[in-house]
Amino acid sequence: MIISIASGKGGTGKTTIATSLAFYLSINGANVVFLDCDVEEPNSALFLKPGIDKSQTVDIPVPAVDFKKCTYCGKCAEVCAYHAIAVAKKTVLVFTELCHGCGGCALFCPEGAISEVGRDIGVVEEGDAFGIRFIQGRLSIGEPMAVPLIREVKRCGIEGSDGVIIIDVPPGTSCPVIESIKGSDFVILVTEPTPFGLNDLRLAVETVKKLDIDFGVVINRSDIGDKEVEDYCKDENIPILAEIPYSRDIAVLYSYGVSMVVEGEKYRKIFRKIWETIKKLKSGQSWPIVGEEDV
Ligand code: SF4
Ligand code: SF4
Repeated sequence: MIISIASGKGGTGKTTIATSLAFYLSINGANVVFLDCDVEEPNSALFLKPGIDKSQTVDIPVPAVDFKKCTYCGKCAEVCAYHAIAVAKKTVLVFTELCHGCGGCALFCPEGAISEVGRDIGVVEEGDAFGIRFIQGRLSIGEPMAVPLIREVKRCGIEGSDGVIIIDVPPGTSCPVIESIKGSDFVILVTEPTPFGLNDLRLAVETVKKLDIDFGVVINRSDIGDKEVEDYCKDENIPILAEIPYSRDIAVLYSYGVSMVVEGEKYRKIFRKIWETIKKLKSGQSWPIVGEEDV
């Protein structure tokens, strides 16, 4: 069971919702795996406070040219769709930051002059957070290739897991978002009731619809702003899973990196409602049993 928590824009409280749902399910007996795929700025660890016991670097293959074999024919540059390799009179330039590691240039080089070497793009870290299996990716500074790192985070977290997998998705609607949410059973879109929130929610909804994944909306800080988001969801027949009002309590807990679920019983009810609504929307599938009583 894979549930992704996404948002068309940053700053909506996506990570707060993702970590709180993970805590709620874990407290109530579910086997939870948490994947932080927001690899450019992973910050779920601030709430989950995992002990990291495993770290591995992730690399992608990039071309290395053997100039003793190269005839400077230009074939490699012709086949590269990303303009990551260029051939001048007596040299071949490889722009490794642009290279997607597809292997096309090595395949088409008539002289067999191209081999592949690994280029580090970041790390995957694994650990335990109060019984929640925790995995996060951290992209190297200045590194544009988020997608291969996200793929590796998902491979580490999903292979062999049989519980609930919660994915904290990067904000926006670009390739890293698609890579993070594809294969999910359900997507929770977190937004806020402002014109900016509505604009980015529309984009996020289009993205999830294209991937044909069931989804619902959580309106965070629901008592600020206007009713446009609520009206949009009603008009589009999009389920609103929960509305979480702005609260000084939550803001204080947030400032200490403490989940609202851990500290506040009234907030646990919100996440029970979210979970029960998702189960209803996905009825017919088998879902992990979660205890009725909060701890
Ligand atoms: S395709 Fe091979 S031989 Fe031709 S320029 Fe590129 S590396 Fe050199
Ligand atoms: S591996 Fe693919 S993306 Fe990288 S330089 Fe070769 S053809 Fe271009």
